[in-house]
This record gives sequence, C-alpha cells and structure tokens, in this order.
Amino acid sequence: MVIAAIAICSSGVDAAAAQRSYRVRGAEGCQLGSADCRLLTVYLPQSSALTTSPNAEVAPQHFTLTPEQRARAEAWARIGDVTYVADLLLAIAINLIFWLRRFGVALRNLARRVSCRLIVQCLVVAPLFVAATVLVNLPLDYYAGYVLERRFGLSTQTLASWTGDWGKTLALSIVASVVLLWVFYAVVRRSPRHWWFYFWLATIPLALFVMFIEPWVVEPLFYRFTPLADTQPALVDRIETMLGHAGLNVPPSRIFLMNASSKTTELNAYVSGVGASKRVVVWDTTLRALTPDETLLVLGHETGHYVLYHIPKEFALDECVLLAIFYLGYRMFRAMIRRFGARTGLESEGDLASLPLVILILTVLAFLASPALNGISRHYEHQADQYGLEVAYGVVPDPNAAAARAEQILGVIDLAQPDPSALKVFWLYTHPPVEDRIRFENDYHPWSEGRPLEFVHRK
Ligand SMILES: [Zn+2]
Repeated sequence: MVIAAIAICSSGVDAAAAQRSYRVRGAEGCQLGSADCRLLTVYLPQSSALTTSPNAEVAPQHFTLTPEQRARAEAWARIGDVTYVADLLLAIAINLIFWLRRFGVALRNLARRVSCRLIVQCLVVAPLFVAATVLVNLPLDYYAGYVLERRFGLSTQTLASWTGDWGKTLALSIVASVVLLWVFYAVVRRSPRHWWFYFWLATIPLALFVMFIEPWVVEPLFYRFTPLADTQPALVDRIETMLGHAGLNVPPSRIFLMNASSKTTELNAYVSGVGASKRVVVWDTTLRALTPDETLLVLGHETGHYVLYHIPKEFALDECVLLAIFYLGYRMFRAMIRRFGARTGLESEGDLASLPLVILILTVLAFLASPALNGISRHYEHQADQYGLEVAYGVVPDPNAAAARAEQILGVIDLAQPDPSALKVFWLYTHPPVEDRIRFENDYHPWSEGRPLEFVHRK
C-alpha cells in the first residue's frame, strides 16, 4: 500500500492535517488503512440529509438522535469498523504476498533492463507497484467509498465523478511515490545505518512542500472556489468582525465559498495560507445546513487552529512520532533482510525489490502509532472548540447554544457514532466524540462567571 506509506512518510501532509477540520467524521473509517481511503475517495460522502436542521433555537444538552437516526449511525459505525480492519488486513496481505511471491524482484529486474540509473528505475517500479496495489484495493474502495456512502446518503457523487477523482488521485499518488521511492533508496544506499534519520530529514521539506501546494494545486482539481461575498455579503461582514477579534486581517476577496455539495454532505470550513495568501474557505454544505450563527462557530473553531498555530505544532509533534516510526522501521527492516533477504531474492536494504517489505513494515508501525497521532489531534481539536466559543462571543448572541446546535447537526449529518468505545476513541478518533464536545460547548462560558478568556484578548 504505497499510498498509505506516502501518507505515513509525509505524516501531517495530507489535506486533513494541512487544514485542521471541524468535522466529526473521518474519525470513524480510516486513519491509516484509511490513508488510501481518504486519498482515493477524497471527500466522498452526501445528500438528502441536509434538511436535518432541527429547531434552530433549541440548544441540545446531549447528542440526541431519533431511534432511526441512532440505528443508521450505529450501522454506519459497524461498517466503518469492518472497512477499517479489512483495509488494514488487505494492506498487510498485499505487501506480504508481493514480497514473498517476489513481485518486487520482478519489478526490479524489469527496471534494470531499462536502465542502471536509480531515478529511471523508480519511474518504472513506482507506477507499476502503485497501479497493482490500487487495482487490488479497487473493489473495497468502490464498495466502501462509493456504494455504501451513497446508500447511507453521505455521497452526492455520480459514478463518473467518483471515477474521475479516483483517476486524479491515482495520478497524484504515482507522482508522489516516484519522488519518495527515489529519495528513500538513494538515502538507504548512501547511508545504510543512518538512513532512518536522513530520510526523516528529507521528508520534512517534502511534507512542507505538499502542505503549501495542497490548497493551490490539489484542491482546485476536485472543487471550485468563488468569493463568498458574491452571495453572502452580510455573513462576510460578520466574519470580518470575528476575524478582527482574532487579530486576523483577511480581505473579503480572500474569503471563499467551495462547492463541496457536488460530492459530499460533510460540513466544513477552514483558514489557511500565510501573509498575503491567507484565506478563509466555507463549504457550501455548511451554509445550507447551518444558520449564520452556527456557521460562525464552525469558522471560529477553524480560526482557532490557525491563530493558535495548530498546524505547525501538530506537524512538529507528528514528525517526532514519524522519527520513532522510521527508527523502529530501520531496525525491523535490517533484521528482516538479514533473516529472510536471501530466501526472498533481496540483495540488500538498498535493493528496489524490497519495496513491498518496506511498505509492510511501515503499515504495521503506522497502525501502532495511531493512538499517539490521534491523541495529539484530539488535544488540538478540543482547544479549537474552546477558541471558537471565545472568538464568537460578542459576535454571536449565544455562542454556547450555537456551538452545541452546530455540533448536533454535524453529528447527525456525518452519522457520528453516539457512544463509541473508549478504545475506539483512543485508537482512531481525530476529534473528541460528539457527546463530549456538546457537553463542553454548553459548559464553557467564562464571560458569565467573570473569569478571563484564555485565548482571545480583545483590545
Ligand atoms: Zn478542527
């Protein structure tokens, strides 16, 4: 599963990390095995559910579902569990078979006949390896990412659109895997004992590069952006006031509406970029499902990620975890090559034929690292919830009620599991469970208790 490995190697690099999100979904399905699920189905889910907005004035004290909603959410959670495990086991099985049946050796021999230069060999091996992996995964991706998402009303995509996204993602994965493969084997050959450190160093600029180009190059491949002021001038004024409280200056021309509804029912918004490239993006699904007050709370949460530097902080912490993964990976890789290398046709660690073994080891280690990476994410998501309440105070009449209502609506639309097990939250959840978030959003109001705000200090 090269794609999973790319997501691992580049750690915080995927879209979700580059733009911390509000959404509650994504916690369910996949994190690592789901790295490919996320890449391949990019934001699939959607649609008839957008009419769920309950009585806009009632603020829920708990995540409240009708019996039908609960049954659907639980059924979806079971499917998510099965898909997650199937995805992981499939990744392990594919790479184990590719390694033991010497598929990597066959690719390496083919590449050697073409050229003796490593970069050319990577241009031969990477596309064939990625294509083989993706084709084996296709039935599961199609069923979980297209059929089931549509059946549960999470996806609005047509098959043609889904297939188009699948093709674009495959192309991006091939480009990324050529670069990673080339850098990885060049470093392993030059420094067989310390590659784990040098490769880790090399992934930092690669990850930063992807993080910076992602909103500019990748997102426009999948969605359209128009100025929000064209359709919602009053909301843009309120956003400007709120961003002013946060100390951010973003001109209205850089506040965009994204046509997420063409593919998904998920709700989201984000703040990204630096300096003149700073921008605010609101998904059209958010505007349809939430009132302006609730939308401001979602945007306040995203502003929190931005202002509190969650992206660079989380990136730094994730990189620490990644360094540990690479070091352990190095130890395991070396031991496996010594023990089984000759028997499986591998000449050395620097042999391109070892690719399935490398991916196998990284897949297992990334699975084991999930609790650390997700725990870091949940910490920052909680902090962003607090920030959202603080920054919306004074702009939205009752920020607590608006936040709790937004959370409730998001939870219903995203089919959030009402009471996930503690183990599942610990291992897989990138956000705190909806029930916990609603409780906090009701309880946190320092302004009514005469206490100072922690993050937002107005002039
Ligand atoms: Zn968030």
